[in-house]
Amino acid sequence: MKPFEHYSAASLKKASSLLKEHGGKARVIAGGTDLLGVLKDEILEDYPEVLVNIKSIPGLDRIKEDSRGLRIGALSKLADIGSSSLVKRKYVALSQAAESVASPEIRNMGTIGGNLCQDVRCWYYRYPHHMGGRMLCLRKGSGPCHAVKGDNRYHAVMGAKKCFAVCPSDTAIALSALQAHIEVVGEKGSRTLPVEEFFTPLGNALGPDELVREIRIPVPPPMCRQAFLKFTERIPSTSP
Ligand SMILES: Cc1cc2nc3c(=O)[nH]c(=O)nc-3n(C[C@H](O)[C@H](O)[C@H](O)COP(=O)(O)OP(=O)(O)OC[C@H]3O[C@@H](n4cnc5c(N)ncnc54)[C@H](O)[C@@H]3O)c2cc1C
Ligand code: SF4
Repeated sequence: MKPFEHYSAASLKKASSLLKEHGGKARVIAGGTDLLGVLKDEILEDYPEVLVNIKSIPGLDRIKEDSRGLRIGALSKLADIGSSSLVKRKYVALSQAAESVASPEIRNMGTIGGNLCQDVRCWYYRYPHHMGGRMLCLRKGSGPCHAVKGDNRYHAVMGAKKCFAVCPSDTAIALSALQAHIEVVGEKGSRTLPVEEFFTPLGNALGPDELVREIRIPVPPPMCRQAFLKFTERIPSTSP
């Protein structure tokens, strides 16, 4: 890995101002389960000069319910969301989605904010720099999408635009079905957008100084039934 400066932000305001101050050369780090792999493999041309640690911000890992629904802080761990009785009671699709992610180790470190903001898993995009050079592509801002003519058996060939990598986030799928909204904060204040609008053809809707603060899920209708089903070639790490 290349060297970088590491700041632990004491508040979201501070994190946002650090992002702004370093103008595109800074990246947020939460659990680090995705970002550290991206940095180690040097898949991106722009290597960050600064990492802004947000685990030092208090109160961002709360899961609570009020009359309008469930509110989940961006630093809530996937393991905690998967095991929370509050989540299981009315939002079981999200609980099942969180439990389906990766392995217990990654769920114990990985946060829901990071799960929503993680980079795609397209094998062209993730090709490590140390194995003959990184692959540039449309999503990286240079070159074609290699999946169009290449091996695209795990890509989203129907309805996608520009980039054909599938959304890597299991929780995003459940949150979309549950009609959740994402609250983001930046230097100029906060805004809330539906999960579907958070994702864009080449990334997400976050501005350069913005972070995810909270996920809000409305109370499901009384007769609502939920299940999260996932097809995977991996052996599930949880019991059925
Ligand atoms: C082996 C492996 C298997 C996996 N399998 C699955 C799977 O089956 N399903 C699935 O859904 N995921 C899977 N993942 C991805 C995993 O869920 C994510 O790595 C994890 O959720 C990321 O959380 P984190 O807190 O570690 O994020 P980090 O690695 O810290 O950050 C990831 C990205 O999000 C950004 N970020 C983090 N928090 C915020 C925030 N609050 N606001 C703005 N930006 C933010 C960072 O800048 C970075 O770009 C897998 C990962 C690995 C390594
Ligand atoms: S699918 Fe997306 S990430 Fe993969 S090569 Fe095409 S543009 Fe790049």
